[in-house]
Amino acid sequence: TPDVRPLVAGNWKMNGTRASLDQIKAIAEGVQTPLSAKVEALICPPATLLYVATALCTDSPLAIGAQDCHQNPSGAHTGDISAEMIADCFGTYVIVGHSERRTDHAETDHLVRAKAEAAFAAELTAIVCIGETADERKAGQALDIIKRQLSASVPDSATPENAVIAYEPVWAIGTGVTPTVEDVEKAHAFMRSELVARFGDAGKKIRILYGGSVKPSNAKELMGVANVDGALIGGASLKATDFLAIYGAY
Ligand code: PEP
Repeated sequence: TPDVRPLVAGNWKMNGTRASLDQIKAIAEGVQTPLSAKVEALICPPATLLYVATALCTDSPLAIGAQDCHQNPSGAHTGDISAEMIADCFGTYVIVGHSERRTDHAETDHLVRAKAEAAFAAELTAIVCIGETADERKAGQALDIIKRQLSASVPDSATPENAVIAYEPVWAIGTGVTPTVEDVEKAHAFMRSELVARFGDAGKKIRILYGGSVKPSNAKELMGVANVDGALIGGASLKATDFLAIYGAY
């Protein structure tokens, strides 16, 4: 997409202990100019590693983010973390509405939108995840689901600075299976037109990431598709060499 700095983002999910900080360190060292001026890099480790991870990145353009936040700034919500807490740890991004959160924790579009608004209030950039399931795709509903999730999960106050969309077909996550380039192109063109219809010129610049089984071997092809402004990577973001190979595909 013209005038857009792509984002290559890693989602570590519930993986990573202090021993994994070596990987963050290696990624931080690998993400350097001149490529970092052109392409942004982000790792979202588990919340337990957030603060120490940001401390490892003080000399690196690598950004650090969280995988979820509560919709409220504070209060009686045992086990949750707020967007303000993420910002307090020097995190700059938060993923909201990942399909695993939607499934494991029954998160609705309405809740995901509230979480994105909480992220904006804490001056974080929210990565709002959407994507159809295998059954929805088989039923020919992929674009309907994308349309509904995009309109209901993304706040009206979204801008190219505070919001990123991640399109992750649920059936492509962690399966090794990816959609065809044509399918990705069609989905991303559709999301772009929806964003432009709703947000005007700003909608042209809101980044739309592709996620689902991105790996070093398919990164170049997927990142080269029109309206794909980067990737959200699960499994292949755990190892610095894999993540940096994908990042280096730009
Ligand atoms: C994800 O869960 O965000 C993801 C894309 O996972 P994977 O790359 O492992 O498919």
